[in-house]
Amino acid sequence: MSTEHYFDQSATTRPSDAAVAALTAAAWGNPSSVHAVGVRAANELREARAAVGRTLGMPRFSQDRLIFTSCGTESNNIALLGCARAKKRDPAHPGTVILSAGEHPSLENPAILLEKEGYTVVRIPTAGGALDLDFLEKTLAEADAPVIFAGFMLVNNETGAVYDVKSAAALVKRHFPDAVVHCDAVQGYLKRKFTPMGLGVDTLTLSAHKVHAVRGAGALYVNAATLKRRNLTAVMPGGGQEGGFRSGTENLAAIRSFAAAAEEGFLHLEENIARTAELRRRLDEGLASLDVRLNRPAEGLDNIASVVLPGIRSETMLNELSGRGIYVSAGSACAANSKKKSLALEAFGVSASDADSTIRISLDYTNTEEDVAALLEGLAEGIASLQRKRTR
Ligand code: PLP
Repeated sequence: MSTEHYFDQSATTRPSDAAVAALTAAAWGNPSSVHAVGVRAANELREARAAVGRTLGMPRFSQDRLIFTSCGTESNNIALLGCARAKKRDPAHPGTVILSAGEHPSLENPAILLEKEGYTVVRIPTAGGALDLDFLEKTLAEADAPVIFAGFMLVNNETGAVYDVKSAAALVKRHFPDAVVHCDAVQGYLKRKFTPMGLGVDTLTLSAHKVHAVRGAGALYVNAATLKRRNLTAVMPGGGQEGGFRSGTENLAAIRSFAAAAEEGFLHLEENIARTAELRRRLDEGLASLDVRLNRPAEGLDNIASVVLPGIRSETMLNELSGRGIYVSAGSACAANSKKKSLALEAFGVSASDADSTIRISLDYTNTEEDVAALLEGLAEGIASLQRKRTR
């Protein structure tokens, strides 16, 4: 097989050896069973929870809670819908929900659902990849119905923009201390140093398959204040697993894989960040000599490069590169299949025609210098050959 060069790490990652080993070693029992087989599974589940919790800076006997889910999408849905359903609301003015513009569909789409039920949803502009904190302040000061939920992603999955979640959370709390402040940290997890407490958020979403574990596990961090105020309820009634917040027998194999990958990623976080930065430096250096433009955010994560190829449709380049064993994506993988316009690029301020010509290159510490060289060569040859075809 010819060599492959994978630059779609923000869509999914290859499970690490440790993650696969943990998966196959997992107990098969039901953690809710009280016999020995179940107890073995329950012990493994407890250890996995503690391991992922450590990566978030949760102390051993924390009053905060880490809920295992099946994926980041489920965690975001539980956070938003679980908050909206937690209290009896006045049907005329059920409440205000604030989101950053261009959130992932797993938060944006449940918000649209709530909008149809009468909630007011306000999207905070993110032009140039920065949260507009003045707009947020004004929104908070002028909100008709109380703000019940505010969600700000840590890193945008399409542009790599890093948002100032800490300042946004503090502003929301100053005006509405009871609001649930949520952070979708799927793209920032194990790529930046942060804790939910440091960000000042109440709930926070993680996804296992973005950090070199298998698919099938995610997590939702919920702080003690949210639990105490009963600001979260289950959205899927059932057997009451995961503290009653996420019913359904836990997928222990995937969860153990998640914990193993999380521990590994956390242990090597600084070197992985430095390695990615070096690869990104090489990538940017090479891109500078090509006929391309970067949608460069005010503050960006090295792992994601949003690149405009003037006059070339992103799908065309995607196929061209794919034929050479080089894999990138057009916008975000999840949105790309649906052929919908990219809300994130639009919110960033990218024109519709540039958005059509934007590819996302997402890399991490598992990429190599050879990968970057192959990508740059592929891009240079692809641009030349596609431009030749156009002028024929
Ligand atoms: N949030 C962000 C920012 C994402 O990038 C993704 C996936 O791309 C998700 C949530 C959804 O995660 P999952 O694929 O685990 O449902």
